[in-house]
Amino acid sequence: MTRLIFLGPPGAGKGTQAKILADNLAIPHISTGDILRSAMAAQTTLGQKAQSYYDKGDLVPDDLLHDLIGERLSQSDAQKGWILDGFPRKLSQASFLEELLQELSQQCDCALNLEVPDEVLIIRLLGRGRQDDNKDTIRRRLEVYRQETEPLIVFYGERSLLKTVNGDQSPEEVTESVKQAVDSCKPSCS
Ligand code: AMP
Repeated sequence: MTRLIFLGPPGAGKGTQAKILADNLAIPHISTGDILRSAMAAQTTLGQKAQSYYDKGDLVPDDLLHDLIGERLSQSDAQKGWILDGFPRKLSQASFLEELLQELSQQCDCALNLEVPDEVLIIRLLGRGRQDDNKDTIRRRLEVYRQETEPLIVFYGERSLLKTVNGDQSPEEVTESVKQAVDSCKPSCS
């Protein structure tokens, strides 16, 4: 049973690494960014509400994601573990998740923080070519990361759940470091 949170700035490789690990462990990879992109492509109510925040590189309001995460973690495939990628992204979301997991009698094993220097992130993001990967939005997303998401490193550090991984290596090397970090996480009680 593995329950993991991936932290780290945009471009750190969270999505790539979370997907590889989820495939290896045969547990769901839950990416709020992917969920929002599908919702926007399908023009659902969620997608329409999220679009303007997404396009600017701002965080979408918590209420758009909280119910969704609650429902997702309650589904049957999530009972054998999960990897959260891109959630939580601010303290209010981390507190929400902590309460939700208590309600669901689940326990997070580990928060993996992928560390990558800013100059490398910018090169990676510019090369990726996603719709929200233009210069202004990238600047904004890094700013939002520093202001809103970085405090989660302390939050999870205080709970002894934090593992830091050097994300400034080849994808294969990062995968290896991620595996080692996951192996060193304390085993889940349940
Ligand atoms: P990502 O694919 O994780 O880089 O997310 C892309 C965009 O989706 C972000 O810039 C936000 O606009 C939105 N987003 C994804 N996850 C969250 C979240 N947990 N809270 C608020 N907004 C989010």
